[in-house]
Amino acid sequence: MTKGLLSVFTGDGKGKTTAALGVTFRALGHGQKVCFIQFIKGRWQSGEAIWSERFPGLLGFHVMGRGFTWKSEDMEKDRQAAREAWDFAVGMINGNTWDVIVLDELTYLIHYAMIPEEEILEVFSGKPASLHLIITGRYASEGLLQAADLVTEMRAVRHPFTSGIKAQKGFDY
Ligand code: ATP
Ligand code: MG
Repeated sequence: MTKGLLSVFTGDGKGKTTAALGVTFRALGHGQKVCFIQFIKGRWQSGEAIWSERFPGLLGFHVMGRGFTWKSEDMEKDRQAAREAWDFAVGMINGNTWDVIVLDELTYLIHYAMIPEEEILEVFSGKPASLHLIITGRYASEGLLQAADLVTEMRAVRHPFTSGIKAQKGFDY
């Protein structure tokens, strides 16, 4: 039986979401079912969101960030959106129908105190035994790092953005 891992891809270097997509690609190749939940909505429709439609039943792709910005124009609304997104993820985890679940940019829910860390860790500790859970995002909290079986920190050495090169379709989104 599979030993489901809790993995965290964090740090300020590029590659966290890309690494989670790499696992997604790999698992789908073996016919495994992957649920990819994005907690923050990007400005552009991503290649992965478009591609996900080609794997009905095998790849669930959900962008939950609509409406919240973390810039707290309306803190209560942001909190509610975060709560709805998290509740959705909990349903997916406890539903026990996926081999891999990616919670992309989940770290910000803890970092901005939208959802208590203890509540999130409790759900993780009760996850189905064979489920691989992957968390991405900067500023992973101490408790999350302690709970994880695998932690990789992407370190920014150089990024084209600092030379004025903007995000590019295909490479960045
Ligand atoms: P990617 O989605 O490319 O794997 P990521 O998940 O590691 O990146 P995020 O913190 O989620 O990084 O930020 C996503 C966007 O910010 C991407 O367009 C990425 O190119 C850009 N980015 C990531 N790291 C840096 C950095 N160190 N400096 C500037 N921009 C960055
Ligand atoms: Mg990311």
